[in-house]
Amino acid sequence: MTKIGFIGLGNMGGPMAANLVKAGHEVTGFDIVAAHTESLGTIGGHVAATVADAAAGRDVVITMLPAGHHVQDVYLNDGVLASADPGTLLIDCSTIDVATARSVAAEAAKAGLGMIDAPVSGGIMGAEGATLTFMCGGEEDDFAKAEPVLQVMGKTIIHAGGSGNGQAAKICNNMILGVSMIAVGEAFVLAEKLGLDHQKLFDISSTASGQCWSLTTYCPVPGPVPTSPANRDYAPGFTAGMMLKDLRLAQDAANAAGAVTPLGAEAAALYGLFDAAGHGGVDFSGIIKLIRGNQ
Ligand code: NAD
Repeated sequence: MTKIGFIGLGNMGGPMAANLVKAGHEVTGFDIVAAHTESLGTIGGHVAATVADAAAGRDVVITMLPAGHHVQDVYLNDGVLASADPGTLLIDCSTIDVATARSVAAEAAKAGLGMIDAPVSGGIMGAEGATLTFMCGGEEDDFAKAEPVLQVMGKTIIHAGGSGNGQAAKICNNMILGVSMIAVGEAFVLAEKLGLDHQKLFDISSTASGQCWSLTTYCPVPGPVPTSPANRDYAPGFTAGMMLKDLRLAQDAANAAGAVTPLGAEAAALYGLFDAAGHGGVDFSGIIKLIRGNQ
């Protein structure tokens, strides 16, 4: 049994914490939304009154927060680093910018605390079903300590290298995803204009060199892949707003690192238009509507 502090009990953190409770760990949670903290209490977890209470006296502290500034506040201002016992391992599972991940981990190291970044893919269903993929950055021995805890919440746990490399892996992967979804959407819209049937294009491209996840798992037109969001009017899934967040993080990182990513930049601009038109809550495969010009 591990004593775990869990901060940020929203759509992802709530079910992740629940899986830790189910596995027999002592989980003490905190969220600024009282109802989120209380619901952990109803399933066998403990309720903390503050971030500092959740962090003090734990073997491991896990955070699952919206963005980099929340992570910075919770660790540096609200008291995780000040309250955690010596030897406590810190695991940030939020998707945030690489620079903040590295700077918070450096502050943790100054306080004598090990920290890894461990963003996830797999969405809410993966969080509920404990099938998440964790992409981890940090020291080898901290990763080794984190692995058994992460295994309770996920299926694939990968050490991507030093601090921040989990975040780097996450945004590189999602840049591929955003760009490839737009490419697949453009191909279907061109096929429509050329009189080529959706199913025929799918049958050919899914077994030819155009094959990719955006086509074969998340096909953006209804029909060829019955489980894809296109068959339920683009209910998410993974929202366009979240894709936009990740594409912007990728652009920030590319600018800071001097990497040339013109397709990533274009994808961020297109998802930005889609979001500004009020479609941030739609599944990200709904971008095909923008491409068709009838959003
Ligand atoms: P969410 O908004 O549902 O949950 C975040 C929680 O953090 C909220 O309950 C909020 O009240 C809480 N919070 C904010 N500031 C806090 C503070 N100072 N102290 C304590 N609690 C605080 O978001 P989510 O969907 O659970 O996503 C969390 C992270 O996971 C994000 O970084 C997101 O990009 C990433 N992610 C989400 C998904 C998904 O499908 N939802 C998939 C992969 C990654």
